[in-house]
Amino acid sequence: MAGKGEGRAIGIDLGTTYSCVAAWHHNRIEIIPNEQGNRTTPSYVAFTDNERLIGDAANAHTNTVFDAKRLIGRKFNDPMVQSDMKLWPFMVISGAADKPMIVVTYKGEEKQFSPEEISSMLLSKMKDVAESYLGSPVKNAVVTVPAYFNDSQRQATKSAGTIACLNVVRMINEPTAAAIAYGLDKGGDVAKNVLIFDLGGGTFDVSVATIEAGIIDVKAIAGDTHLGGQDFDSRMVNHLVKEFERKNGRDISMNPRAIRRLRSACERAKRVLSSTSQTNIEIESLFEGIDLFSSITRAKFNELNMDLFNKCMEVVEKCLSDAKMKRRGVDEVVLVGGSSRIPMVQELLKEMFNGKEACKSINPDEAVAYGAAVLGAECGGSDVTPLSLGIECNGDVMSVIIPRNTPIPTREEALFSSYPIKDNQTNVWFSVYEGERSKATDNNLVDEISLPDIPGEPRGVGTFKVCFDIDENGILNVSAEHIGSGVKNNISITNYMGKGRLSKKQIEKMIRDANKCKREDEEYMNKSDYRKALMEYAYDMRNYERCVPGMMEAADKKKIDKAFVFTMMWLELHKAEEVDDAEPFINKMEELKRFYNPIVAKTHQSPSIKMWFSIECKALLRWIVNKYTALLRWIIHNL
Ligand code: ADP
Ligand code: MG
Repeated sequence: MAGKGEGRAIGIDLGTTYSCVAAWHHNRIEIIPNEQGNRTTPSYVAFTDNERLIGDAANAHTNTVFDAKRLIGRKFNDPMVQSDMKLWPFMVISGAADKPMIVVTYKGEEKQFSPEEISSMLLSKMKDVAESYLGSPVKNAVVTVPAYFNDSQRQATKSAGTIACLNVVRMINEPTAAAIAYGLDKGGDVAKNVLIFDLGGGTFDVSVATIEAGIIDVKAIAGDTHLGGQDFDSRMVNHLVKEFERKNGRDISMNPRAIRRLRSACERAKRVLSSTSQTNIEIESLFEGIDLFSSITRAKFNELNMDLFNKCMEVVEKCLSDAKMKRRGVDEVVLVGGSSRIPMVQELLKEMFNGKEACKSINPDEAVAYGAAVLGAECGGSDVTPLSLGIECNGDVMSVIIPRNTPIPTREEALFSSYPIKDNQTNVWFSVYEGERSKATDNNLVDEISLPDIPGEPRGVGTFKVCFDIDENGILNVSAEHIGSGVKNNISITNYMGKGRLSKKQIEKMIRDANKCKREDEEYMNKSDYRKALMEYAYDMRNYERCVPGMMEAADKKKIDKAFVFTMMWLELHKAEEVDDAEPFINKMEELKRFYNPIVAKTHQSPSIKMWFSIECKALLRWIVNKYTALLRWIIHNL
């Protein structure tokens, strides 16, 4: 019916390698094809001398940026960023507050883009795709993120939405979206265990969730951040490079253009092999005028990749054991991700679950966007939260967990690692605030939730999960959990959305005040960000030295401890509200880096015998444990 779609949100699966958009249309969920007719769009942006290209058009270019999802919400210093950087053809540098910045040449000039900006370009492409198909402007979207994304990665993804002029009404976990796509959350009150198998382009994620009374609770996640379709393509590329050399006596492996062309032909062939048993690969004038004419069978493709497929199954085993669940305890297996279309992958999974058929009636690479759109369609017309809800974090900063105007019911989780505020603290509490100001204490305090008796750990080591849940009746439940020890607590505010709390006038005043103080708040956030970056850097420096005993010389350790204590004292004297701008924090950070970098460089250059021994021993122990668990598991399974 006309207008019914208005106010509804579209669903966007913002993938590492491919993105997908779906929406409620013609009284059902539809996957929206892009201008080329493709139902998924490469998460690629290309910068050329005269234009910026996004999606399929960018894929064929050389000056492309991709994998922004691997960078978003992370710091440049993050070890993952440091190791991924080595694989990228584009340059990444450290920007303000240690944020990674992507450097490109665009229209003849050098430009820097944050990961949020690159992701926003992809989101706005998906928005355009939806608008031209639906024929009306799109304002709201449900965007999905991996289950392991932390608060910072989620916030940054949300910012990407804002830059793309999209109101991100909800952010949900990818496995949750896939379960929703299959309506598994609507199965009544009987609890169900679901395994979500997501094998994509460059990443592999397995989640085990329990669904009861419409609530999807992710119990365990496992995966491999560098395993996916691209690896299968690479195996085929290597195979054909060797064949080419055998037939023509030419090694093409050092020719980037030839490899690029071969790689895209291999990806196409791989897709074809998911539905036929043999296909041809033909590339004219691949190298020095020589054509490549070859064919490959599904059996050969499987043989080239069998070890990788088996690795996937091991990860499934690990996820089940982390969730303390037996294979036969799994009620549904859901296939997600383009690479789970591969018949051998499906076969191995079926075998593992004793012949159980997986949910695959929705295309695996579209299931996440589909589920997001289901939720988006439900969002229209319901009650929304009057103010943003969040907790106080990192020295009086409001960390929003449920943004203003989020339709209820809603449930959001966030992970925090900046608690406790002191080393070895065994009691933490989280203050719940509502409002739009950046400084938590400028907002309205709703309640507090405490976690007594947590194990004492150095600051920055412990992780806490905070969950906000508002049900259809407007009851707000907040729970906090210390990951690892399982210490938990929860509070309930029964009239959160009801009468007797803030009046409409009070709410309007709070929003007006926030708008008035926007600039001041932005400045405060800017200073707080730099202060937080400095504090985290100091803790990382101190914790690194504590977590890897034997790595550092005693004298350096002493120096680090001293520098750490001084930095903490300095931070005590320099609260964000007490300084004029971010400059002192930037300078102090530089000073600390100048002190710390040479020590790290030295430590990496000369690993002591003791350290080598401790690392080797640990590796050996891990190997023995792994062997034994696999054997035991095999025995238990086969008895
Ligand atoms: P992402 O990992 O970014 O979320 P997808 O889930 O869409 O992306 O997975 C993309 C991967 O799936 C690519 O490597 C692509 O080659 C692969 N793929 C897509 N369709 C098929 C198919 N029919 N058979 C095998 N692999 C496929
Ligand atoms: Mg995906």
